[in-house]
Amino acid sequence: MKNINNIIKKDSKEVELIHSFQDACSNKEFYEFIRTLPIEEEILIKYTSSLEDSFIEFKNCKNCKGLEKCKNNVVGYCYTPKKEKHIIKFSYIACKRKEKELKENAYKKNLELFDMPKEIKEATLKNVYTDDKSRIPIIRYFKEFMDKYNKKEEPKGLYLTGSFGSGKTYLIAALLNEMAKKRICCALVYYPEFLRSLKSSFQTDYNERFNFIKTSPILLLDDIGAENESSWSRDEVLGPILQYRMQNHLPTFFTSNLTLEELETALSITSSGVDKVKARRIIERIKQLTITIELIGKNRRN
Ligand code: ADP
Ligand code: MG
Repeated sequence: MKNINNIIKKDSKEVELIHSFQDACSNKEFYEFIRTLPIEEEILIKYTSSLEDSFIEFKNCKNCKGLEKCKNNVVGYCYTPKKEKHIIKFSYIACKRKEKELKENAYKKNLELFDMPKEIKEATLKNVYTDDKSRIPIIRYFKEFMDKYNKKEEPKGLYLTGSFGSGKTYLIAALLNEMAKKRICCALVYYPEFLRSLKSSFQTDYNERFNFIKTSPILLLDDIGAENESSWSRDEVLGPILQYRMQNHLPTFFTSNLTLEELETALSITSSGVDKVKARRIIERIKQLTITIELIGKNRRN
């Protein structure tokens, strides 16, 4: 008796499945959709509800108006059925547009930002303003840098000084993004904030942060000289970072509103007094690591 009940139950379940499948197929578009799937009907009937979800997403894709307007559950992905033996598995598959975007953005994983705005990852050399001639020597230097780096000739970094808002950070970020596209890891550090956060990480990941920056294949210390100088930041942070990078020929970039002479003065005065020798030593290291270019231009900030 128990068996018969089970059979009846099983049969009625199957009838139910068939009914709901047939119901769904009365929608011509849905029917067209499932006909394109290389899956037998006796398997399809067990998945009507998921197939309907999938159908809605495929329809959205057919009428795609761009990723920004994607109506699917997971933007850029389509809920897709795939037969595996006697079952159907559904998974979110990236559409062509999303795939292209993922490919184009793959370089971003080679960029480590420390307190820099995220948009800096979008800076590109081809967007660099060429409306003023002051950028020409910088662009020339960039080409040379990339060329030498490719040939493993250990090119020097750049100390880019100049007026506020002239585009120094943008320019170096554009170069580093280009390097990231060549699979070279770059760290972009907003130096004043990095010092603050480093200071508060003594109990936690201080060494990790410090070493990451010290050893990064390419490093930008952005806005150096804008921080409040202390003998600790000069002698325990900046000094050892530069020393290590010099010894290991690791390209290092700086942007600053200060010239090297002005930076030397700023570095010599700390809350613990005036120490010209230590400041001089830092400047010597920066000079070893970089060439200096000055960027004078109008303020691009709005
Ligand atoms: P700086 O570091 O010299 O103070 P920034 O690099 O921050 O200047 O540039 C100032 C502003 O101008 C930023 O908002 C930056 O995004 C923008 N900017 C600079 N150069 C470009 C460029 N080539 N294309 C688009 N935006 C730029
Ligand atoms: Mg800047």
